[in-house]
Amino acid sequence: MPIDPKPTASHYIGGEYVEDTAGTPIDVISAHSGEKIAQVHSATPAIIERALTAAGEAQAAWAALTGTERGRILRRAADIMRARNRELSELETYDTGKPLQETLVADATSGADALEYFGGLAGSLTGEYIPQPGGDFVYTSREALGVCVGLGAWNYPTQIACWKGAPALACGNTMVFKPSETTPLCALKIAEILTEAGAPAGVYNVIQGLGDVGAALTTDPRVAKVSLTGSVPTGRKVYAAAAAEMKHVTMELGGKSPLVIFDDADLENAVSGAILANFYSTGQVCSNGTRVFVQKGIREAFVKRLCERLDAAVIGDPMDEATSFGPMVTSAQRDIVLGYIEKGKAEGATLAYGGKIIIRPGNYIQPTVFTDVTDDMIIAREEIFGPVLAVLDFEEEAEVIARANDTEFGLAGGVFTQDLTRAHRVIAAIKAGSCYINTYNLAPVEAPFGGMKASGVGRENSKTAIEHYSQVKSVYVSMNDVEAPF
Ligand code: NDP
Repeated sequence: MPIDPKPTASHYIGGEYVEDTAGTPIDVISAHSGEKIAQVHSATPAIIERALTAAGEAQAAWAALTGTERGRILRRAADIMRARNRELSELETYDTGKPLQETLVADATSGADALEYFGGLAGSLTGEYIPQPGGDFVYTSREALGVCVGLGAWNYPTQIACWKGAPALACGNTMVFKPSETTPLCALKIAEILTEAGAPAGVYNVIQGLGDVGAALTTDPRVAKVSLTGSVPTGRKVYAAAAAEMKHVTMELGGKSPLVIFDDADLENAVSGAILANFYSTGQVCSNGTRVFVQKGIREAFVKRLCERLDAAVIGDPMDEATSFGPMVTSAQRDIVLGYIEKGKAEGATLAYGGKIIIRPGNYIQPTVFTDVTDDMIIAREEIFGPVLAVLDFEEEAEVIARANDTEFGLAGGVFTQDLTRAHRVIAAIKAGSCYINTYNLAPVEAPFGGMKASGVGRENSKTAIEHYSQVKSVYVSMNDVEAPF
């Protein structure tokens, strides 16, 4: 029997679950059955105030611990997450509808990786010694920013809560995290686990709500930094609001990334890459390579093999570990995707696979492939955020680079070829933050992750994330008498 998804209460503040039923109810609907499986309440102004106060009051003492002490707590939390992986994976599946087959290996595990990695780094966050003439010197220290706000998208609720929380806490910040109102359950567990691991009350708080709660957090003067994972339109709003008070930001936004497959690519690997780049998590991945540029010589074989491989997708109950392709997160999101499929047909693209809703309870839709897609079609320009792959034909390397870059987005990009020099040449020319050669969509915590152009600002993961959750103080120390002009 899977776990009971109902949370203890809606919010987690100051080291404990907190309820305020005066907030607007938010129903959690199963993506698989369409049934209501839990309910939380949106944060009232009193809850927002309580969370910001708790985070503010906890911050100085948390930052005053040594990095090693903070890191020990984060690493303990990682161990607890791994020990509770099945329970957390089931909750992620309830929250999102993603197959348990995926969540068992991709969500709590990658959240634990972030806690372990940044826990390990915390003790080594030191400054520099910079010698000056006459024995003077400058030293630098790396300081926390203060209270950070995390705003999450619905596709990776556990991972996003950890990818933001782990570096923030490692650097001595405290956090108020607001998950997407679509997936409110998982982040509460992260807060609970951090408390169990020894995090002092108020260090990591979770409150629920829609965009208005996110906006209230973003504009509060006590908040030093806002880290958003979401769409480009939301990113523009949140970035602008944060800029008004000169707050730090990290923006992990959407994409329409190119995946380029040359004639000499290993066919089976290229098809596997395209599947990972379009159908994992039912296509609800920001870095997906949804514009699949296929060179003319391999195009026919590629499309044939891709469709054969899609026949092997096991579509069904995401709690069944045999299922490899689950429902979409909400019926509204599924309807948006269906709308794009209709646009693709109307624009003259060829529907090569799928394209239909699956008639059963829940938000099921077939994995879908369009061929004969041209650069100007809406399905080649806008982020669909669902399982829709567009095949675009190309002939020359220079042509495909120009077409791949002809987009406002710049999150990810990939190339499949056996020509090593070409692989590096093409990737060097792709204007995107997270790139792949002969694979796709891997995001290890040790590597920076994030977008160029409209896809974002800043990077998550790796040592680079430390720069985005801390600030540097530089102190000039004189060892000599002070010379003044008069
Ligand atoms: P949204 O942009 O709709 O929402 C993101 C978060 O911001 C939600 O918690 C949302 O609240 C909140 N929010 C909305 N409006 C405001 C506002 N004015 N001020 C503050 N907060 C606000 O994204 P989705 O949840 O629909 O997620 C899908 C998008 O996320 C896709 O574009 C995808 O590409 C992107 N994404 C990017 C990733 C990356 O790392 N680059 C990774 C995963 C997804 P609520 O929705 O509850 O109202």
